[in-house]
Amino acid sequence: MPWRKAWIDPSSAPYQGSEGKRLLREHLEKRAYEVWISEIMLQQTRVATVISYWTNWTNRWPTIQDLAKASPDDVLSAWRGLGYYSRATRIHQAAQKVVDDKDMEGLLPATAAELEKQVPGVGKYTAGAISSIVFGRAEAILDGNVARVLSRQLALYANGKNKATTDLLWHVAQTLVEAVAGFTRDDDESSDVPGFWNQALMELGSTVCTPQQPKCTECPIRATCRAYQEGEALAMAKGQISPRAKQNAKEQAVPDIEDLCQRCEPFGAVEGDVEEEQHSDDQDAETKANALKRKPSGNAAAETAKKQRQNGQQSSLLSHFTKKTAKATTTDSETTVMPPSPSSSSTDHIPEAALQTIQDHVKLFPMKIVKAKVREEECVVCSIQLVSGKAKGSKQSSSRWLIQQRPAKGLLASLWEFPTATLPSDINPSKPAKRKQLAIDHVKSLPQLSDLGVAPTCKGELGSIDHVFSHLKLKMWVWRFVAQCGDGDDGIEQAVADGGDTDEQKRKWSSTPEVEAESMGTGMRNCWVLVQDAAKWK
Ligand code: SF4
Repeated sequence: MPWRKAWIDPSSAPYQGSEGKRLLREHLEKRAYEVWISEIMLQQTRVATVISYWTNWTNRWPTIQDLAKASPDDVLSAWRGLGYYSRATRIHQAAQKVVDDKDMEGLLPATAAELEKQVPGVGKYTAGAISSIVFGRAEAILDGNVARVLSRQLALYANGKNKATTDLLWHVAQTLVEAVAGFTRDDDESSDVPGFWNQALMELGSTVCTPQQPKCTECPIRATCRAYQEGEALAMAKGQISPRAKQNAKEQAVPDIEDLCQRCEPFGAVEGDVEEEQHSDDQDAETKANALKRKPSGNAAAETAKKQRQNGQQSSLLSHFTKKTAKATTTDSETTVMPPSPSSSSTDHIPEAALQTIQDHVKLFPMKIVKAKVREEECVVCSIQLVSGKAKGSKQSSSRWLIQQRPAKGLLASLWEFPTATLPSDINPSKPAKRKQLAIDHVKSLPQLSDLGVAPTCKGELGSIDHVFSHLKLKMWVWRFVAQCGDGDDGIEQAVADGGDTDEQKRKWSSTPEVEAESMGTGMRNCWVLVQDAAKWK
């Protein structure tokens, strides 16, 4: 990854003396800018995709000062394809603020608290990343990968959308980074350890402790992993691990601390939890039936969780599956089998079935949450091509297209699009005639066309493009309109000059190359492909 570079050690020889201090500032300024851009881009997509975007971006604007001077349209254009376009705008505005601010003067703050406070768009995660990786401060980071690793290490089965859960995970991550660094976030100390530690945890989550195929046998922190140990105890209770290992576990039998946990939910407390992931295929029917009986749903589940929390008791999966075994081997019915100690946690002789049981168990963490239903919407996208009266067909070289800019805030902020109208809920979207009427009415309502005094002809519907945002599924029905004006290219120029250019309304007539160069979202770009194909033939 090109943004991963050697840590800048302020105590090293090149950074001593007044010239060294100037050099240090210059290097930190550039490095903080590079890490900042990479972290925001990495929130959008995968590393492999980010590499080319990051390289192009930093070649184009090598310093934060260069970015601050860029035009908003150029910034959006460089972000094209990454999605969440408002982030590009926020980075740009933040760069201008950091450069203009008399205290920062182009250098991002070193502490996470100041980064969050001073730099628009920088949240807790990005602040921790910049502070630890660039400035070597003992600041934690918590992304999805780290949260998964820590949830499994702690066997924390709690709703990750709840603030109490994220606060707990942040606290654990912070405690760990301070422990490995040997200093706290409040100390004015730095080293390469916090950055390496944070990056290692993220990498472990993305390569070893993955959501669906955790490679526990290769994991360097298996010995401290509570979810792994629970899975191992579960395999023992099912007779999948050798009697010797069972004996080890029996000798260590102590009350299960999870039964006192106030934070964890009972397994299956959230409706929609991945029940099928709890069990391996070879699980005996009785155990499976017990597990299904145990799983309440909806309000009943919430009520059960509440009662168990009130009783100060969490019904862990381990308890449920091992209680029977424990009763058979101890006189205390409240005692459950404690997982083996880290030292006995070896995978050397664990059979395949036991490993499967362990993997199935660790995959329960973190707790799965039912996602909110994605809103669905349909719209008509009206491509309007202005052609010369004498042009044969719709020759693109002498054409203009009406495009408009979206508002500066909200979905696809500031991006360009063809005039678009959302289908009202009382219109049946499956009826082409209704879509056509909506498209025609919308085109008629555009002042740019009435100003020109030309009536566009509807050439029909070209097809539809589906585009999925995080919270919205949008179907775009693409319509083609052609309007004729005066003779030849001069006629078009005259027509556009007479009334088409309406900056204040954020609509404009653009040539084909100009449309190509504008910043458009991926969905609208796909609509443009349909339009161009149709314009070649009709
Ligand atoms: Fe993740 Fe398995 Fe390692 Fe635990 S032992 S941290 S579950 S990979």
